[in-house]
Amino acid sequence: MLRVGITGGIGSGKSTVCRIFETLGVPVYYADEEAKKLISNDANVKAEIIKLLGEEAYLNGDYNVPFVKKAVFQDASLLTSLNGIVHPAVKEHAMEWMEAHADKPYVLKEAAIMKKGTDLDKIIYVSASEEIRLARILERDTERTEEEIRAIMKNQFSPAYFEEISDFIIENENDLLIPQVLAIHQKLITS
Ligand code: ATP
Repeated sequence: MLRVGITGGIGSGKSTVCRIFETLGVPVYYADEEAKKLISNDANVKAEIIKLLGEEAYLNGDYNVPFVKKAVFQDASLLTSLNGIVHPAVKEHAMEWMEAHADKPYVLKEAAIMKKGTDLDKIIYVSASEEIRLARILERDTERTEEEIRAIMKNQFSPAYFEEISDFIIENENDLLIPQVLAIHQKLITS
Protein backbone atom coordinates (compact mmCIF):
# COMPACT_ATOMS: atom_id res chain seq x y z
CA MET A 1 0.00 0.00 0.00
CA LEU A 2 1.37 3.39 -1.00
CA ARG A 3 0.85 6.35 1.32
CA VAL A 4 0.16 9.38 -0.84
CA GLY A 5 -0.04 12.97 0.37
CA ILE A 6 -2.22 15.50 -1.45
CA THR A 7 -1.50 19.15 -0.81
CA GLY A 8 -1.76 22.70 -2.12
CA GLY A 9 -2.63 26.18 -0.94
CA ILE A 10 -6.01 27.39 0.30
CA GLY A 11 -8.68 27.04 -2.36
CA SER A 12 -6.45 25.10 -4.74
CA GLY A 13 -9.08 22.37 -4.92
CA LYS A 14 -7.57 19.66 -2.69
CA SER A 15 -10.95 18.52 -1.35
CA THR A 16 -12.55 18.64 -4.80
CA VAL A 17 -9.76 16.45 -6.19
CA CYS A 18 -10.01 14.09 -3.20
CA ARG A 19 -13.71 13.61 -3.82
CA ILE A 20 -12.88 12.42 -7.34
CA PHE A 21 -10.34 9.95 -5.94
CA GLU A 22 -13.01 8.76 -3.48
CA THR A 23 -15.34 7.92 -6.37
CA LEU A 24 -12.58 5.55 -7.54
CA GLY A 25 -12.67 3.81 -4.14
CA VAL A 26 -9.55 5.48 -2.74
CA PRO A 27 -9.75 6.14 1.02
CA VAL A 28 -8.93 9.75 1.97
CA TYR A 29 -7.72 11.07 5.33
CA TYR A 30 -8.67 14.74 5.70
CA ALA A 31 -6.03 16.06 8.14
CA ASP A 32 -7.85 19.31 9.00
CA GLU A 33 -11.08 17.57 9.95
CA GLU A 34 -9.23 14.89 11.89
CA ALA A 35 -7.21 17.54 13.74
CA LYS A 36 -10.46 19.18 14.86
CA LYS A 37 -11.79 15.84 16.07
CA LEU A 38 -8.60 15.07 18.00
CA ILE A 39 -8.63 18.53 19.61
CA SER A 40 -12.24 18.00 20.70
CA ASN A 41 -12.10 14.35 21.73
CA ASP A 42 -8.60 13.04 22.38
CA ALA A 43 -7.91 13.08 26.13
CA ASN A 44 -4.11 13.43 25.75
CA VAL A 45 -4.37 16.25 23.20
CA LYS A 46 -6.92 18.07 25.37
CA ALA A 47 -4.75 17.73 28.48
CA GLU A 48 -1.70 19.09 26.65
CA ILE A 49 -3.65 22.04 25.25
CA ILE A 50 -5.02 22.88 28.71
CA LYS A 51 -1.48 22.68 30.10
CA LEU A 52 -0.33 25.13 27.42
CA LEU A 53 -3.25 27.58 27.30
CA GLY A 54 -5.14 27.05 30.56
CA GLU A 55 -8.59 25.69 31.44
CA GLU A 56 -10.26 28.38 29.34
CA ALA A 57 -9.14 26.54 26.18
CA TYR A 58 -12.30 24.43 26.66
CA LEU A 59 -15.75 25.72 27.60
CA ASN A 60 -18.06 23.00 28.99
CA GLY A 61 -15.86 20.47 27.23
CA ASP A 62 -15.97 22.22 23.85
CA TYR A 63 -12.88 23.73 22.25
CA ASN A 64 -12.97 27.49 22.88
CA VAL A 65 -11.95 28.68 19.41
CA PRO A 66 -12.26 32.48 20.02
CA PHE A 67 -10.14 32.22 23.19
CA VAL A 68 -7.46 30.12 21.51
CA LYS A 69 -7.42 32.34 18.40
CA LYS A 70 -6.90 35.42 20.56
CA ALA A 71 -4.19 33.77 22.65
CA VAL A 72 -2.13 32.58 19.65
CA PHE A 73 -2.64 35.87 17.81
CA GLN A 74 -1.13 37.73 20.76
CA ASP A 75 1.78 35.33 21.20
CA ALA A 76 3.16 33.56 18.12
CA SER A 77 5.23 31.17 20.26
CA LEU A 78 1.95 29.75 21.60
CA LEU A 79 0.88 28.95 18.06
CA THR A 80 4.15 27.09 17.50
CA SER A 81 3.61 25.16 20.75
CA LEU A 82 -0.02 24.42 19.87
CA ASN A 83 1.07 23.09 16.47
CA GLY A 84 3.70 21.07 18.30
CA ILE A 85 0.85 19.31 20.12
CA VAL A 86 -1.64 18.93 17.29
CA HIS A 87 0.61 18.09 14.31
CA PRO A 88 2.35 15.05 15.84
CA ALA A 89 -1.01 13.77 17.14
CA VAL A 90 -2.51 14.01 13.63
CA LYS A 91 0.58 12.41 12.10
CA GLU A 92 0.33 9.44 14.46
CA HIS A 93 -3.42 9.12 13.98
CA ALA A 94 -2.97 9.25 10.18
CA MET A 95 -0.34 6.51 10.35
CA GLU A 96 -2.74 4.26 12.29
CA TRP A 97 -5.52 5.06 9.83
CA MET A 98 -3.24 4.20 6.90
CA GLU A 99 -2.22 0.90 8.48
CA ALA A 100 -5.91 0.04 8.80
CA HIS A 101 -6.18 0.36 4.99
CA ALA A 102 -3.16 -1.79 4.19
CA ASP A 103 -5.28 -3.91 1.82
CA LYS A 104 -5.70 -0.97 -0.61
CA PRO A 105 -3.22 -0.22 -3.44
CA TYR A 106 -2.87 3.31 -2.06
CA VAL A 107 -4.48 5.82 0.31
CA LEU A 108 -4.50 9.63 0.35
CA LYS A 109 -3.75 12.06 3.16
CA GLU A 110 -5.03 15.57 2.39
CA ALA A 111 -3.30 18.47 4.16
CA ALA A 112 -2.18 22.05 3.43
CA ILE A 113 0.96 21.48 5.49
CA MET A 114 3.14 18.79 4.04
CA LYS A 115 6.75 17.77 4.32
CA LYS A 116 8.60 15.17 2.38
CA GLY A 117 9.39 12.49 4.90
CA THR A 118 9.34 8.84 5.70
CA ASP A 119 5.58 8.81 6.42
CA LEU A 120 4.59 9.44 2.77
CA ASP A 121 5.70 7.59 -0.37
CA LYS A 122 4.39 10.07 -2.94
CA ILE A 123 3.00 13.61 -2.95
CA ILE A 124 0.40 15.16 -5.26
CA TYR A 125 0.29 18.95 -5.53
CA VAL A 126 -2.96 20.64 -6.56
CA SER A 127 -2.06 23.92 -8.21
CA ALA A 128 -4.01 27.05 -9.20
CA SER A 129 -3.07 30.73 -9.36
CA GLU A 130 -3.60 32.96 -6.33
CA GLU A 131 -6.25 35.00 -8.13
CA ILE A 132 -8.31 31.94 -9.05
CA ARG A 133 -7.99 30.52 -5.52
CA LEU A 134 -8.98 33.87 -4.01
CA ALA A 135 -12.09 34.11 -6.21
CA ARG A 136 -13.12 30.53 -5.36
CA ILE A 137 -12.70 31.03 -1.61
CA LEU A 138 -14.57 34.35 -1.64
CA GLU A 139 -17.44 32.53 -3.31
CA ARG A 140 -17.26 29.46 -1.04
CA ASP A 141 -16.65 31.18 2.34
CA THR A 142 -18.79 34.31 2.21
CA GLU A 143 -17.81 35.28 5.78
CA ARG A 144 -14.13 35.62 4.81
CA THR A 145 -12.60 38.84 3.49
CA GLU A 146 -10.02 39.19 0.72
CA GLU A 147 -7.53 40.51 3.28
CA GLU A 148 -7.98 37.46 5.49
CA ILE A 149 -7.52 35.05 2.58
CA ARG A 150 -4.40 36.86 1.33
CA ALA A 151 -2.96 36.71 4.88
CA ILE A 152 -3.53 32.94 4.98
CA MET A 153 -1.90 32.57 1.54
CA LYS A 154 1.13 34.53 2.73
CA ASN A 155 1.55 32.11 5.63
CA GLN A 156 1.36 28.98 3.50
CA PHE A 157 4.07 27.18 1.55
CA SER A 158 4.98 28.69 -1.83
CA PRO A 159 4.20 27.08 -5.21
CA ALA A 160 7.98 26.55 -5.64
CA TYR A 161 8.08 24.58 -2.38
CA PHE A 162 5.09 22.44 -3.39
CA GLU A 163 6.62 21.78 -6.81
CA GLU A 164 9.88 20.76 -5.18
CA ILE A 165 8.32 18.18 -2.86
CA SER A 166 5.70 16.75 -5.23
CA ASP A 167 5.77 13.71 -7.52
CA PHE A 168 2.58 14.66 -9.40
CA ILE A 169 1.02 18.04 -10.14
CA ILE A 170 -2.67 18.56 -10.83
CA GLU A 171 -3.38 21.86 -12.58
CA ASN A 172 -6.74 23.04 -11.35
CA GLU A 173 -7.37 26.15 -13.39
CA ASN A 174 -9.57 24.47 -15.95
CA ASP A 175 -12.20 21.77 -15.89
CA LEU A 176 -9.91 18.90 -16.85
CA LEU A 177 -9.61 17.48 -13.35
CA ILE A 178 -11.02 14.03 -14.02
CA PRO A 179 -8.52 12.99 -16.73
CA GLN A 180 -5.64 14.26 -14.57
CA VAL A 181 -6.89 12.26 -11.57
CA LEU A 182 -7.39 9.14 -13.70
CA ALA A 183 -3.85 9.35 -15.10
CA ILE A 184 -2.35 9.57 -11.58
CA HIS A 185 -4.66 6.83 -10.28
CA GLN A 186 -3.49 4.55 -13.07
CA LYS A 187 0.17 5.20 -12.22
CA LEU A 188 -0.40 4.64 -8.50
CA ILE A 189 -2.26 1.37 -8.88
CA THR A 190 0.39 -0.03 -11.22
CA SER A 191 3.49 1.18 -9.36
P1 ATP B 1 -9.12 24.64 1.58
O1 ATP B 1 -7.65 24.86 1.53
O2 ATP B 1 -9.87 25.84 2.03
O3 ATP B 1 -9.51 23.40 2.32
P2 ATP B 1 -9.30 23.23 -0.93
O4 ATP B 1 -7.92 23.31 -1.48
O5 ATP B 1 -9.72 21.93 -0.33
O6 ATP B 1 -9.59 24.43 0.06
P3 ATP B 1 -11.75 23.10 -2.43
O7 ATP B 1 -12.61 23.29 -1.24
O8 ATP B 1 -11.69 21.78 -3.07
O9 ATP B 1 -10.26 23.61 -2.12
O10 ATP B 1 -12.11 24.17 -3.56
C1 ATP B 1 -12.33 25.53 -3.21
C2 ATP B 1 -13.59 26.02 -3.91
O11 ATP B 1 -13.34 26.06 -5.31
C3 ATP B 1 -14.79 25.07 -3.72
O12 ATP B 1 -15.96 25.85 -3.61
C4 ATP B 1 -14.80 24.24 -5.01
O13 ATP B 1 -16.08 23.80 -5.34
C5 ATP B 1 -14.26 25.24 -6.02
N1 ATP B 1 -13.51 24.58 -7.11
C6 ATP B 1 -12.47 23.74 -6.96
N2 ATP B 1 -12.00 23.34 -8.17
C7 ATP B 1 -12.77 23.98 -9.09
C8 ATP B 1 -12.78 23.99 -10.52
N3 ATP B 1 -11.93 23.26 -11.27
N4 ATP B 1 -13.71 24.75 -11.12
C9 ATP B 1 -14.58 25.48 -10.40
N5 ATP B 1 -14.62 25.52 -9.06
C10 ATP B 1 -13.73 24.77 -8.41
